[in-house]
Amino acid sequence: MRVVCAWCGAVLSEGEGQVSHGICPGCSELFERAYLRALRDRARRQRRRGRPPAGAPLPGFEAAMGGRPACGPRSVTSAGAG
Ligand SMILES: [Zn+2]
Repeated sequence: MRVVCAWCGAVLSEGEGQVSHGICPGCSELFERAYLRALRDRARRQRRRGRPPAGAPLPGFEAAMGGRPACGPRSVTSAGAG
């Protein structure tokens, strides 16, 4: 059986008949590096998006409150007091 690199086509193992696909050391390294980089990038993106900085308004929150703060100082009228 003949084995060739599925990425660059380099012959990994000469033989007759069927052709099987593998990965050569060069492509393996490139692939591994690209894979690890993709993992790191994704982790970084998720971390950045995961938690907004303290004090940041929640998306859509200000608009929903009509621009007023949700829990700012305001006159509270409590029934029964006074
Ligand atoms: Zn290759």
